[in-house]
Amino acid sequence: MRVIERCDEMQKLARSWHKEGLSLGFVPTMGALHEGHLSLVREARRHHDRVVVSIFVNPLQFGPKEDYTRYPRTFEQDKSLLEKENVDVLFYPSVEELYPQGFQTYVVVEKLPEPLCGRSRPGHFRGVTTVVTKLFHIVMPHEAYFGKKDYQQYRIIERMVMDLNMDIRITPMPIVREPDGLAMSSRNRYLSPEERQKARILFRALELAKECIQKGERESSVLTEKLKSFIVNEVPEARIDYVAFVDALTLEDVSRLRGHVLLALAVFLGNTRLIDNCEFFLEE
Ligand code: AMP
Repeated sequence: MRVIERCDEMQKLARSWHKEGLSLGFVPTMGALHEGHLSLVREARRHHDRVVVSIFVNPLQFGPKEDYTRYPRTFEQDKSLLEKENVDVLFYPSVEELYPQGFQTYVVVEKLPEPLCGRSRPGHFRGVTTVVTKLFHIVMPHEAYFGKKDYQQYRIIERMVMDLNMDIRITPMPIVREPDGLAMSSRNRYLSPEERQKARILFRALELAKECIQKGERESSVLTEKLKSFIVNEVPEARIDYVAFVDALTLEDVSRLRGHVLLALAVFLGNTRLIDNCEFFLEE
């Protein structure tokens, strides 16, 4: 596996692969890799001649009070995990390489970033769409893989690629979970052992929602209230950012559940913000 730190070197290699007619799969990450990331890498490996994984903790997508400086950085471990997956290139640019002095161009999707995580993380998705656009121009993949754990991010990237005619297939991948149901996340490392126990509450809330929906409940307000009180009763120290039922394509609130609906949750445990979600496909 080659580690490439420079944008021009990565682009040159990608161009040579294109010339050879090789297909290129890409997995952008912020590192601190776990099985969730690796599921994306394996899918890329299955379908493409060449696989590039990027590791870049993108300062643009962190708010001033967020965890940019303390975000876990485990480069050597990540590198050996990616070597085992037969990745061709680990693209590992520095902040200065990606955002040299004078940088002032941003990519903004207008509506999809407004609800859910966008509400409590202003500017976050502008950082994501800007860096992903840059990475797409540098790596020039045919297909890029995104986890549904960050469902809003996936829908925003999908929209951006359509709107800007980027010739890249965006493939969503299922959420990979710990044995007890907690969605894998680099941020799970922040949790104390007690918080880790309590973090199961997100998955338990999703399970409760499934049960209620199976029994026929379709009113979003009823379900939302039920889930909120379940969370705070079971884990009083949990701080709910949002519990929302939205249209899975537009991410707009739905009042009655029908068609393709997303239930999305964001909950703080201590200083750690955890997200999770579940899709429902309901008869009209
Ligand atoms: P991150 O390093 O957190 O930016 O994540 C990089 C990619 O891995 C994103 O597309 C995430 O949605 C995806 N990802 C992170 N955690 C999981 C998970 N538990 N299951 C599936 N995909 C994930």
